[in-house]
Amino acid sequence: MSEKTIFKRIIDQEIPANIVYEDELCLAFHDISPQAPTHVLIIPKQEIESVAHLTAADQNLAGHLLLVAGRVAEQLGLTGGYRVVANCGPDGGQSVDHLHLHLLGGRSLAWPPG
Ligand code: AMP
Repeated sequence: MSEKTIFKRIIDQEIPANIVYEDELCLAFHDISPQAPTHVLIIPKQEIESVAHLTAADQNLAGHLLLVAGRVAEQLGLTGGYRVVANCGPDGGQSVDHLHLHLLGGRSLAWPPG
């Protein structure tokens, strides 16, 4: 059996996280290495490796994650706007193989990303 990802260990409460939102489907917590004044990760509790591994059966879950991103942004007072990003695979810069949305805000963000 493959090793648990760091995010699965957070879901299973084996390691701590600074959680800002939780429901039956997902968890949102502060990134340990923030790239903006606010940097939160939204992850499904279900183990899905990446955007590329989503199927039609995950449609409601995928939409739910986006809605939660917006709700958390509001909760954290990101009134000036924010960015929601999902890195996918090696070229996308994904380092943890458990689907996650990055919610970044609290400063003006450059575009395009590197
Ligand atoms: P990605 O590079 O898109 O896969 O994003 C993974 C993110 O997880 C990075 O921004 C890391 O800083 C973050 N990260 C890794 N370990 C932890 C942890 N234990 N708690 C919170 N965030 C983490």
